[in-house]
Amino acid sequence: MFSVTTYKNKEVAVFGLGRSGLTAAEALHAGGAKVYLWDDNEKARDKSINLGFDIKKFDELDANNISALVMSPGVPIYGPKINWAAAWAHENDIPIIGDIELFAREINSTPENIRPKTIGITGTNGKSTTTALIAHILQNAGRDVRMGGNIGTGVLSLAPPKAGAIYVIELSSYQLDLTKSLHLDVAIQINVSEDHIERHGTMERYVAAKRNIFANQNSEDYAIIGVDDDFGEELATLLMAKGSRRVIPISSGQFVTCGISSINQFLWDNSSGRANKIADLHNALALPGNHNGQNAAAAFAACRAIGLSDETIVEGIMNFGGLKHRLQKIGTIGKIQFYNDSKATNADASAQALNSFPRLRWIAGGQAKSDGIDPLSRFFPKIAKSYLFGAAAERFSNNLKNFPHEVFETLAQATQKAYQDAIETGDEELIVLSPACASFDQYSDFEARGDDFINVVNDIIAKNQK
Ligand code: ADP
Repeated sequence: MFSVTTYKNKEVAVFGLGRSGLTAAEALHAGGAKVYLWDDNEKARDKSINLGFDIKKFDELDANNISALVMSPGVPIYGPKINWAAAWAHENDIPIIGDIELFAREINSTPENIRPKTIGITGTNGKSTTTALIAHILQNAGRDVRMGGNIGTGVLSLAPPKAGAIYVIELSSYQLDLTKSLHLDVAIQINVSEDHIERHGTMERYVAAKRNIFANQNSEDYAIIGVDDDFGEELATLLMAKGSRRVIPISSGQFVTCGISSINQFLWDNSSGRANKIADLHNALALPGNHNGQNAAAAFAACRAIGLSDETIVEGIMNFGGLKHRLQKIGTIGKIQFYNDSKATNADASAQALNSFPRLRWIAGGQAKSDGIDPLSRFFPKIAKSYLFGAAAERFSNNLKNFPHEVFETLAQATQKAYQDAIETGDEELIVLSPACASFDQYSDFEARGDDFINVVNDIIAKNQK
């Protein structure tokens, strides 16, 4: 665990006592800060009291003595739904920060000769895949890698800075909103599309939060930017014109000057100005689809920036095992294959799944995002049948009114019916859960939804193999 020394002998308020809030409190305490904790949930407060922390509603504190408010990412810090603790901090001119800011300060204050390297990854979709892929490639090359942030382990729970180490950090827009000092050796923005507008208030704020990943970079550093969306393209052009850092554009679908591209699942290096084929991604079995080409291009550029050889990077891409719940192949029975893409919580993510297969049976539904499945209509003609479940089922059924579909209450019912329909055809069939929705209407999170699907599929396989 980190010991946060940059607030030694200072007073810090911590709001939101989930895993990252408690770790921040522990790391601050270990570094000699006086911490005051609060959570609006009584159970969370009781847990912190049991751990020996001081619990205090912030308006009982002397605000003049508080150096920072550490906020849990995702709590609204501006806009009409602003949280009371954030409003209290604004009123008293107290900086609102997150655990990434504490991490950044520790890295920045580590002497240069022993300072570890940092790679940060953001984007609307593909963050976890790209983060895990980069960590895997570096590990496969024998490097000392610490992976965390929005994926798995909170940053402050990672092993403390050490010469030669490389931190590979997934960063959500919420986390980027709560840091000013983050200075990454390699910063990646994979893509930007509409998501999480509820928290950021407007698309402009969401884009601005993501751009924060490139703050503080200088001519030694690398900015790797997906240019397949307008936001990325505009930013890459701007930063290239500024010349303040090394910009590497990446794309899936187009050759980009001085960048890395994935075209029809072949990886191309254009950095010398001439296209040079580097890898056949059809052989990277855990990275199916064009969208994963975008992730592989970003990972390739990042690992090259760290100094790995092209051969070593390609070896790591090829033997990457993939991540659970991201277009994960979970089983086959006879001619029927099942894929679990429970992590597809918005239309853009599901578009990648729908784009990856020529024909499929699609299981979708849950708590819809604002645009629902409107952006997916171009795929409807190639879907053999849609199986809709959860809160969004009726709404989606309206979108699909001219195409084969059926509405179910639960994911299990939808899956059973998809299987029955598939065996009746006697053909090669693909059944894909790619919900295009959040899971919170029926599940605690997308992992619980994906695990439920895996269990249902395993049951089907077990019953029908007898
Ligand atoms: P994140 O961490 O950003 O949510 P994940 O790697 O967990 O991203 O993938 C989430 C979902 O998005 C999965 O359904 C996956 O198939 C899809 N996806 C992965 N990479 C991309 C990409 N580069 N562009 C669009 N969708 C993607």
